[in-house]
Amino acid sequence: MSSLTRRDFTRLAAVGGLAATAPFLSKHSFGQAAGKVVVIGGGPGGVTVANRLKAANAAIDVTLVEPKQKYTTCFYSNLYLGGFRSFQSITHDYSVVRKRGINVISDKAVAVDTTAKTVTLERGGAALAYDRLVLAPGIDMKFDSVEGYSADAAEIMPHAWQGGPQTWLLKQKLLALSDGEIVVMTVPGNPYRCPPGPYERACMIAHFLKTRKPKSKLLVFDAKKTISKQAVFEEAFSEFYKDIIEFNLTNEIDDFAVQRVDVSTGDVFLKSGRKERAAVANIIPPQKAGVIAAMAGVTEGDWCPVHPENFTSAKVKDVYVLGDAAIAADMPKSAFTAVSQAGVVAEDIIADLSSKPRVAGKYRNTCWSMVAPDNSAKIGGDYIPAMKDGKAFLEVHDPFVSKPGESGDLRRETYNESAGWYASLVADLYGTEPKSAEPDDAAEPAAAPAVAAPAPKR
Ligand SMILES: Cc1cc2nc3c(=O)[nH]c(=O)nc-3n(C[C@H](O)[C@H](O)[C@H](O)COP(=O)(O)OP(=O)(O)OC[C@H]3O[C@@H](n4cnc5c(N)ncnc54)[C@H](O)[C@@H]3O)c2cc1C
Repeated sequence: MSSLTRRDFTRLAAVGGLAATAPFLSKHSFGQAAGKVVVIGGGPGGVTVANRLKAANAAIDVTLVEPKQKYTTCFYSNLYLGGFRSFQSITHDYSVVRKRGINVISDKAVAVDTTAKTVTLERGGAALAYDRLVLAPGIDMKFDSVEGYSADAAEIMPHAWQGGPQTWLLKQKLLALSDGEIVVMTVPGNPYRCPPGPYERACMIAHFLKTRKPKSKLLVFDAKKTISKQAVFEEAFSEFYKDIIEFNLTNEIDDFAVQRVDVSTGDVFLKSGRKERAAVANIIPPQKAGVIAAMAGVTEGDWCPVHPENFTSAKVKDVYVLGDAAIAADMPKSAFTAVSQAGVVAEDIIADLSSKPRVAGKYRNTCWSMVAPDNSAKIGGDYIPAMKDGKAFLEVHDPFVSKPGESGDLRRETYNESAGWYASLVADLYGTEPKSAEPDDAAEPAAAPAVAAPAPKR
């Protein structure tokens, strides 16, 4: 595995990273804007909006509400499971965000009054007033869609689909696995966070087993009939992990959605009637927008409808919803799209606050997946607001996807692109200096990291 030097970082940031994320806004074009903006959620979506607003105009009062002291990225967390990254290298704090002049409040938003335009915090005190509210709360799990599964059960059968202690827990369970024992992963139907994420994870867990527990197997059960980058993943499963991964897609005969789990035995029951006893079970349940979105009244079903030209809520005035929580037509729920949407949101807020013309946004996505050492595939495209049958939607332009049978050189280049994207993105978001990409199991925290713990109550 190649580690990233500072020179690589600068080159790759220009080629595949910063250039492909949201544009920085010009200070001069939006000098008149001022007002109070509250952003809920300190992931890539929320932090990008906060950073862009403050960089464009220091006079805007920007408050970011986020309960975690440190943010562990889900993106690149599969590489941690595979042994290619340390936990520390995917975990970032908010100290640089604060230095940028953003008021970061380590707390949870528990209510939104969209008439009074205020946000209430868990710890109490005066509610935060806003002129514009940005909701970027990511996802919450629909635990009740799997019998026997719950937040407590996830401490035994981790989903690891939100970054932090869950990610760390799944890795600890893999490290503790006895050679020859079975790992089971269940994957939900669409839509969910990061469509190719489960299959990159399957490759990374399989790589871990191949190199550390070669007699063990990974059984993957999927509620879907087809998956993202299917040809590439199926090739990788048979080329690199033939005797390790058993991959089961739902078909006309068998429904491989998970129905029930029993954490006391490790049993996983599929709708097909099949039952497996897992030493490690990675249950990825169906998901919904972070619960604060429903409290704010911006949801329709599980997710939040938005106007595609600027990600304003389709339900409530002066509120934006972006990232995984939003219904963004065919744009997948990814960090890349969250950042792309956030650039448009910041630009729209500034134009709106300074009474300048508001211009419809254009968006981009690239999702990279590592399938083996120095071997990554990608999928992506551009998304442009358009009208069809009188309804606004996002039209896909110039889509691209890696193909099976690509050369090792091309796959290495794609891996390097993804490493450049990650390094430039976390530098942009959290001010994180490039770190070594080397694995670091020995330096893992001995106990569950407190990265997701809320700040102590005052
Ligand atoms: C295994 C895996 C691999 C992935 N790989 C990639 C990849 O390679 N590339 C890619 O682009 N994407 C990837 N993703 C997807 C990516 O992680 C998400 O799409 C992205 O994090 C979404 O960003 P967000 O800002 O919308 O939400 P989040 O990153 O979830 O951030 C939301 C934040 O809001 C906070 N929050 C929630 N509720 C409240 C509240 N009430 N008050 C205050 N704060 C609140 C949460 O604590 C959280 O920190 C991957 C995901 C997974 C699970």
